[in-house]
Amino acid sequence: MPGARRGQTGDVNDFDLLVLGSGPGGQRAAIAAAKLGRKVAVVDRREMIGGVCINTGTIPSKTLREAVLYLTGLNQRELYGQSYRVKDDITVADLGMRTQHVIGRETDVIRSQLARNHVTVLPGVGRFVEPNAVAVSGGREPGGREQKVTADKIVIATGTRPARPDSVAFDEKTIIDSDGIIHLDHVPETMVVVGAGVIGIEYASMFAALGTKVTVVERRDRMLEFCDLEIVEALKYHLRDLAVTFRFGETVASVERMARGAITVLESGKRIPADTVMYSAGRQGMTDDLQLEAAGLAADHRGRIKVDEHYRTAVPHIYAVGDVIGFPSLAATSMEQGRLAAHHACGEPVSDIIDLQPIGIYTIPEISFVGRTEDDLTAAKVPFEVGVSRYRELARGQIIGDSYGMLKLLVSPDDRRLLGVHVFGTGATELVHIGQTVMGLGGTVDYLVNAVFNYPTLAESYKVAALDAMNKMRHMARLSE
Ligand SMILES: Cc1cc2nc3c(=O)[nH]c(=O)nc-3n(C[C@H](O)[C@H](O)[C@H](O)COP(=O)(O)OP(=O)(O)OC[C@H]3O[C@@H](n4cnc5c(N)ncnc54)[C@H](O)[C@@H]3O)c2cc1C
Repeated sequence: MPGARRGQTGDVNDFDLLVLGSGPGGQRAAIAAAKLGRKVAVVDRREMIGGVCINTGTIPSKTLREAVLYLTGLNQRELYGQSYRVKDDITVADLGMRTQHVIGRETDVIRSQLARNHVTVLPGVGRFVEPNAVAVSGGREPGGREQKVTADKIVIATGTRPARPDSVAFDEKTIIDSDGIIHLDHVPETMVVVGAGVIGIEYASMFAALGTKVTVVERRDRMLEFCDLEIVEALKYHLRDLAVTFRFGETVASVERMARGAITVLESGKRIPADTVMYSAGRQGMTDDLQLEAAGLAADHRGRIKVDEHYRTAVPHIYAVGDVIGFPSLAATSMEQGRLAAHHACGEPVSDIIDLQPIGIYTIPEISFVGRTEDDLTAAKVPFEVGVSRYRELARGQIIGDSYGMLKLLVSPDDRRLLGVHVFGTGATELVHIGQTVMGLGGTVDYLVNAVFNYPTLAESYKVAALDAMNKMRHMARLSE
């Protein structure tokens, strides 16, 4: 950055780069710029270091999931019988213990990373006062005064919060959003989940595994419409087996708070009683407090900020990354956006974000995919062959007692490249990266046919699915000989 810290007015600014928000996007932007020798600061509330990701979103929900799987013994029941449990009465304390520990450790790791890289942490909330100046308030510095800091470049990484319809009286006890889940004081016997998006369906599956009778209400006719249909059907089958009831194509008219629970009233007239109602109906960008107009910026009605391919907003020295810019709103993508934005801001050569981004959904069982779906390819009139491997036909699948898992490869019959990889079941979110690597390096199904995989592993499913696709393509070739 030639002429470092000299702002538009010619003044010397306090920092080369100022980051608002310390979630995955902000953190990576700060570290990347610091590694390039820039003077960097990050603003966030003290108790939110690590962002939604560490404190209320990804990490608590994934730690909760792990505790649920362990304590219920759900994954071992195929081997040791349907009554197998590690603990009979699972309490919120059992579930929460691990979560607090992991959040604490993750926060320490982030604080230490920022400190090691000499990134200044400014505790509080930031708002623009000028295009190059931010007022930070709410910190615990002596007198708690507002502090004005200036920077050459600014990265907005303020994330999102759960959207709350005005018509619903949230009480943080019975009627909650996804932030409230981790503060529940008991495991409810019955629960309504409004919204079958990723967050809603992940929590629905965790509570169903705990024995809660869950009803999912979704306005659309299907859920997770960006995923492979066959895999979503398999997930629905599993969740129904755990006593989940789905109400698709239904809209909530109101939620009535009762003495010991709430009744969710649907527009169709159905009334669903439950101990707890969890709303998971989208998220709103955290831009209300930013005073964007002072920087010459604006957000859309969902609080999101528009950016170009370099994550630059309409004001070229201000960047925005992570959930505040919208889809795909994942921690991994946010991190990469942060790194790329910082490199661009520091004048480093940057490549575009790689198109091939994996999606991981931590339902029980989990789903992961990379590349295109069958529906997507069919709509685009792109021919494909399907190769499938079922865990129950793999030695590792039998050993771990996963009889439902599957891996599906979509292969181009023209050049045999992989078009998509879809995995359902144990380890799906890890396994998908093998396919992602082959696809990213332009490999074909032949590589998977010829590769030798450790035995017995779930990774072997790649070879089995590749052979399946290859046999189908060979059959086609034979018919036309
Ligand atoms: C329940 C749940 C489960 C999830 N599970 C997964 C998952 O399994 N995998 C996955 O990849 N993603 C998951 N996500 C999404 C993931 O958490 C987000 O994509 C990621 O956290 C977004 O990162 P971010 O950089 O945008 O910042 P965020 O993590 O959203 O953090 C933003 C930070 O900005 C701060 N901030 C806000 N306003 C200001 C201001 N004015 N000044 C200073 N600081 C401010 C906030 O305090 C917050 O700390 C989940 C989300 C939720 C809610």
